[in-house]
Amino acid sequence: MDTALRDEAVELLRDLVRVDSSNPPGRETPAAMVVKQYLEANGVACELVARDPDRANLIARVPGRGTGPSLALMGHTDVVPADAQDWTHPPFGAHLDDDGYIWGRGTCDMKNELATRCVTIAHLVRSGFQPSGDLLLISQADEEDGTEVVGMPWLLKERPDLKCDYAIDEGGGARLELVDGRVVYSLQVGEKATLPVTITALGEAGHASVPTLGRNAVPMVAELITRLAAHRTDKRLVPAIRGMVESLGVDPDQDIDVVAAQVGALHPAFAMEMEALLGITIAPTLLTGSSARNVLPGRASVGLDCRILPGDTEADLDHELAEALGGDIPFERVFVQGITGGTESPLGTPLHDAIAAALTAADPGAMLVPTLSTGFTDAAYVRQAFGTVAYGFWPLRHTPLDVYEGGMHNKDERIHRDDLGLATAMQIDIVQRLLG
Ligand SMILES: [Zn+2]
Repeated sequence: MDTALRDEAVELLRDLVRVDSSNPPGRETPAAMVVKQYLEANGVACELVARDPDRANLIARVPGRGTGPSLALMGHTDVVPADAQDWTHPPFGAHLDDDGYIWGRGTCDMKNELATRCVTIAHLVRSGFQPSGDLLLISQADEEDGTEVVGMPWLLKERPDLKCDYAIDEGGGARLELVDGRVVYSLQVGEKATLPVTITALGEAGHASVPTLGRNAVPMVAELITRLAAHRTDKRLVPAIRGMVESLGVDPDQDIDVVAAQVGALHPAFAMEMEALLGITIAPTLLTGSSARNVLPGRASVGLDCRILPGDTEADLDHELAEALGGDIPFERVFVQGITGGTESPLGTPLHDAIAAALTAADPGAMLVPTLSTGFTDAAYVRQAFGTVAYGFWPLRHTPLDVYEGGMHNKDERIHRDDLGLATAMQIDIVQRLLG
């Protein structure tokens, strides 16, 4: 491992962590300035682009020779808030411990990734690398909250010149050892979409002193929730998950429950996720009943967090809801918001090949396995805006997965410095392979 490059990424990450860019409220501009100063000191021109001056996005571009595709490396500068009293080391202190861990908010999500992407570009420029197509860095505000429209969705509308053929963002890259000894890294090629719904049971109001009066909507909605919990949605293989199943050596054309069981048996992480990757999920989360204890409500509601697969529509969710809820309890269904996300990039692209080749060089024998995120990243916006092939990939090998996942959006977020070294080296390799 090139420890000089690793340590360069470590110091940049620590500078970024020391900037409190908790969102809300955001205030990402000082973090964008850290990136700007670093890149400009390394001969990379940068531009801050802001709708709100406190919440700047940063764009850097290394012009290509005009003979190849363009590639954007992405990384958001905001982080989720942290409550200092719960932490072993202060969340904005960037403590580096004797075991090589950097502690602080954003060390896993995702100032770590941003720092290594900056060092990747700086190193390539310093070494005289001239990419075949443009190499961009997009460092955006407001990913974690997203309600202010100052980050990626705004930036891409404002700056159509950010159209790029390929992009690498957060999401994939975790190293898993399967029960049969094989080693895989995930490549996140898309994500599920959210489609939130409110179901309201329709009864009749009455006086709570005589519960048999009217038709209390609370037990009605309770019955609807019970039916939702018991319901199993239809399963199917979207292209990304078919690719996942195939690359794991499991026959995708058998009964889909057998496919799920065989994949799930390979690693506990797969077992946990498989159900969500094969179909619509419906999770009851919000409840509303009467506004007064002594009133039997005529209406009682449950808010559902629903996640649909790429390509699914409102009608697909409606079909599941109708099947689950039956026709004997009167209810009304409202889509609270339209479909958000649900984009998927194709497999087998030149970027996919470049990442796979860099992985083979860095960790011989390891395989790249595509997957979908059940959450959301800004990669969805570049896919939607420009048809960009965008993958989530940041290789993670030295930080145990439970430490990494346990710290994300939680206390004691920390990353091992050798993962910064690995990611920097691999990204340099990926860029050289794709834009060499
Ligand atoms: Zn993130």
